Amino acid sequence: MIKLSKLAKTFQLKDGNVTAVDNVNLTIEKGEIYGIIGYSGAGKSTLIRLLNMLETPTSGEVTVAGKNMNNLSKKELRYARQEIGMIFQHFNLLWSRTVAENIAFPLEVKGVAKANRKKRVEELIKLVGLEGRGGSYPSQLSGGQKQRVGIARALANDPKVLLCDEATSALDPKTTDSILDLLVDINQKLDLTIVLITHEMHVIRKICHQVAVMDGGRIVEAGLVLDVFKQPKENMTKEFVKQVTEPEETEEAVRHLLANEGIGQILQLTFVGGETNKPLMTDVVRKFDVSISILQGKISQTRTGPYGSLFISVTGDNHLIDDVISFIREQQVEVEVVHGG
Ligand code: ADP
Ligand code: MG
Repeated sequence: MIKLSKLAKTFQLKDGNVTAVDNVNLTIEKGEIYGIIGYSGAGKSTLIRLLNMLETPTSGEVTVAGKNMNNLSKKELRYARQEIGMIFQHFNLLWSRTVAENIAFPLEVKGVAKANRKKRVEELIKLVGLEGRGGSYPSQLSGGQKQRVGIARALANDPKVLLCDEATSALDPKTTDSILDLLVDINQKLDLTIVLITHEMHVIRKICHQVAVMDGGRIVEAGLVLDVFKQPKENMTKEFVKQVTEPEETEEAVRHLLANEGIGQILQLTFVGGETNKPLMTDVVRKFDVSISILQGKISQTRTGPYGSLFISVTGDNHLIDDVISFIREQQVEVEVVHGG
């Protein structure tokens, strides 16, 4: 659905050049939710704006829905952009227009007749869960509702692709989740391809199929979300993955436990894919004469399977603990000795 080849964007400034996007190659399939994560300044917004030519590439090619976006005439570009909806962190709504009028705006621009506009706006209001709010003004809505208007407006012309630039970054966690649920819902109902950029791994974890990690204008790592969670290669990717897989208090809890004598060994188990449902801890204490306490755990669901870490302490004879470790490893669960051994 989207193909970027050797895409680059350099901004020329008075005191030098900034290469915001640097030789990016990327393929995004139809119906995928593709997340791009990176810290501030990584070049994410520039990259996503290159997809609909809000920025003109310095070099390289952009193809969206089979159309090469480079070198389009103004008129062709206007048509091509109807296939690409976009939502923003700060919603970018028209403040003097009602919800219904905001959603109708792209239809007016396209020249859709009034009766058809009205019908389409009603459908969209329903799709995004804003029934009864069509006559409200943006200032009368919560952040989550404003973003729902943004989504409805972006979908008005039946785009093939929806671009989301930090669409949940201005929202609280609960509202973020409700907007992410809505994005999944429209991805499935409309088979819509979604490209989203974010600095939060939670967003990637919750709704994306694929993820690319961006740093200094480059894509440093990319793949299926679960694969990247399982084996992050770059240090930056590891930092992002930790945001969602390691409980924040782990270090503190481990330090606290180390203060006690005879704590035994502390193990970190990493579960990937289908194994989280196995009664592994029960099996261990049944088979081996050791005792186990669970210190911390966090299991996250991704679109392609569960992923998580469990920290346990094991007390017993050292050779038994070695057997426990081998046994756990045989169950396709990764084990790292955090302390002891
Ligand atoms: P992100 O969205 O990941 O925070 P951006 O794409 O906004 O990153 O910015 C990447 C780099 O490009 C930054 O160094 C930024 O200052 C620079 N940049 C972005 N837009 C412009 C612009 N219009 N003019 C000059 N520099 C820009
Ligand atoms: Mg940005």
